[in-house]
Amino acid sequence: MSDASQSMVIVGETDASIFDLNLRLRRIPQRLADARRQLEAEELLLNEVLEPWTQLEREIQERETTIKIALDTIGKFEVHMKKVTTQKEYLAARKQVDEARRLNTRLQDEILERRVAQEELNPRLEERRGTHRKVLESYQVEEGAILKEQAQLEQEIAVLAKRVEEHLQIIGSNAHPYYQRLMKSGKQPAVVPIVGGSCQGCNMALPPQTYNQLLASSGKLFTCPACARIIYTQAPDTNVQAGAAAG
Ligand SMILES: [Zn+2]
Repeated sequence: MSDASQSMVIVGETDASIFDLNLRLRRIPQRLADARRQLEAEELLLNEVLEPWTQLEREIQERETTIKIALDTIGKFEVHMKKVTTQKEYLAARKQVDEARRLNTRLQDEILERRVAQEELNPRLEERRGTHRKVLESYQVEEGAILKEQAQLEQEIAVLAKRVEEHLQIIGSNAHPYYQRLMKSGKQPAVVPIVGGSCQGCNMALPPQTYNQLLASSGKLFTCPACARIIYTQAPDTNVQAGAAAG
């Protein structure tokens, strides 16, 4: 077997590995999305309780702000009541104070109602916060593992691509730029063996004359007339050895 023939076999096998690794790499965004979906479902469940709880809290804050203003008003009018000289002024001030006090009482009651409603939500809120926290933690672990796998796959592919490039350079005939064009155009795997007379990229049977030329090509760049992929065949002596070992 010539160096070029051996290189062609190595390129074919390495390219098949690159193809498998690329398949795994392409599944990664989907795997990340699947993992995220669980987390998102848990976020929805949490928000079912958290949103009404937060709304109550907002309403309480608003009322507490109004109470501060009412108390301020009461204070001011109480001071004013001590200074007034006429009965009319006194009654007017008194009226303001009473109104502010009534408002205060109503707001206190409303706050109390909301605190009670919040307390009713609290057990469920705690439970869902707990579950959400756990799901978030496991998502982060899973995401980390998937991203690590992605980095490893990219690294492996880079190593194999380098090997393909080196061996394509041994084959020569602009094999490497041609291979890159095939990869870019999505013809992956780009280097395929001929098995049983058929191209393993497109399944077309090779015309007998082309097949004989390929057998005689001893590792020169050869392409499938149907799909344009780089094709190669295992040297007959390799097959005999493999058959003998298997038998
Ligand atoms: Zn083909």
